[in-house]
Amino acid sequence: MKKMNTTGNAHSERDHLSADIAIAGGGASGCMAAVAAARCGKSVLILEGNDAVLKKLAATGNGRCNLTNLSLSDDDYHSDAACGILSYISPFGREDLLSFFEREGIFFHDRDGYVYPHTDQASTVTHALVKMLRDAGVVIKTGERVTHILLPEESTAGGYRFRLETAGGGVYSANAVIAACGGMAGTQFGCRGDGYELLKALGHSCEMPRPALSPLVTDDDSLRIGAGARAVLCGTLRADGKEIGCEYGQYQFNAGSISGIPALQLSHAAGEALSQGKETILYLNFLPQLSEKSFLAECNRRMSLSRNLTLGELLFGLAADKLTAMILCRSRLQAEMKCVNLNRLTDDPEGLLRGILASFREYPVRITSVGNYDKAQVTAGGIPMREIGKDFSSAIVPHLYITGELLNVDGRCGGYNLQWAMSSGYLAGKSAGETL
Ligand SMILES: Cc1cc2nc3c(=O)[nH]c(=O)nc-3n(C[C@H](O)[C@H](O)[C@H](O)COP(=O)(O)OP(=O)(O)OC[C@H]3O[C@@H](n4cnc5c(N)ncnc54)[C@H](O)[C@@H]3O)c2cc1C
Repeated sequence: MKKMNTTGNAHSERDHLSADIAIAGGGASGCMAAVAAARCGKSVLILEGNDAVLKKLAATGNGRCNLTNLSLSDDDYHSDAACGILSYISPFGREDLLSFFEREGIFFHDRDGYVYPHTDQASTVTHALVKMLRDAGVVIKTGERVTHILLPEESTAGGYRFRLETAGGGVYSANAVIAACGGMAGTQFGCRGDGYELLKALGHSCEMPRPALSPLVTDDDSLRIGAGARAVLCGTLRADGKEIGCEYGQYQFNAGSISGIPALQLSHAAGEALSQGKETILYLNFLPQLSEKSFLAECNRRMSLSRNLTLGELLFGLAADKLTAMILCRSRLQAEMKCVNLNRLTDDPEGLLRGILASFREYPVRITSVGNYDKAQVTAGGIPMREIGKDFSSAIVPHLYITGELLNVDGRCGGYNLQWAMSSGYLAGKSAGETL
């Protein structure tokens, strides 16, 4: 068996390369692991299924890469970990991550705490990481989708060696393996959940994966009227009548779904409730700041100015026109109706106005699912945290490490998932590099 040298020049014999450490997956966590391990003087090989590493990272944050967040807390993550996620991250926390890239000449800025490279280009981060891989002598094999990780045979004089096989017939061996294959979110970037199967075959269990940070899907037809509109509002999610989440911010309306950052933030809770068969309803409050008294006073003022006022004119400015039409439609009203005619519909016009206000303040939308993996930014579920140590080593297979989205950790939208992927990758790589 030929061995790769530590400067990263793999031998040409394609069918049996070896390295000290092999990494399955060249995404955010795999590349961080590779740099950290190689800097410990180990030979490192990345096996990446795509035709290039870091394809997903290049698309993060709408191409701007929201790397981390100025406010990181345990509450920003969902996980089965018995202790908070920050206790795993903190040995390579936010400041360490930023310094890691600042040493490569990258500056950062933030918007509402969301941290981006100063260039607002994800490629700034990917180029820096690729340069670090090159400088550290990491060998990258692209187009190599790992299909099997086989446990070491009996220990020989050559040491403890895993065998990795790829879809194209490649065979590789290593003393330690870092599984960094990501989850299933972002199928367009080659993420198919291979890592779960690879690790289950090695004895790990897996909490049922499901999409998170994904639009909320609904069968509510009224959304067709509001499709294309955006609104800053307060959304409260209830499962079987119990509040399970509340997010204020800009929601985006589409025929059949609601997206925007606050909707994505609610998707973990929605997915969990739906998986338990609970009736899940999002109550939209388009006017959280407007009191009933002010609303009625403003309606009366407008009506006193014109006898020909339409309902649309009466409610002008409360929400985007499409959304007002959507809300009125539920009450069987139209924006074109003349206010004077409201008296003919009811003997209590003020009561009708109160009813209209109530529907602006509590517009229920039944959620039927969360968007598929091609719409999701992250996977909830995965390898349970109880099956790894604080250095991301497997508690089941010696010299195996697991990082990033493969683990049962998913963060809120706002840089939390890249922080997790990069911290876990770096720490796993460092531990593997120092332990071997
Ligand atoms: C559109 C989009 C935008 C996002 N924006 C942000 C953001 O701005 N901020 C943020 O914090 N998070 C963001 N995320 C989430 C973030 O990108 C992920 O949480 C993070 O990339 C996970 O890192 P990872 O290394 O675990 O997995 P990945 O980055 O998914 O990397 C896994 C790699 O493994 C490879 N692979 C898979 N299976 C195999 C196999 N069998 N053999 C070999 N290679 C394999 C894949 O091709 C991939 O390159 C976004 C996600 C998406 C989809």
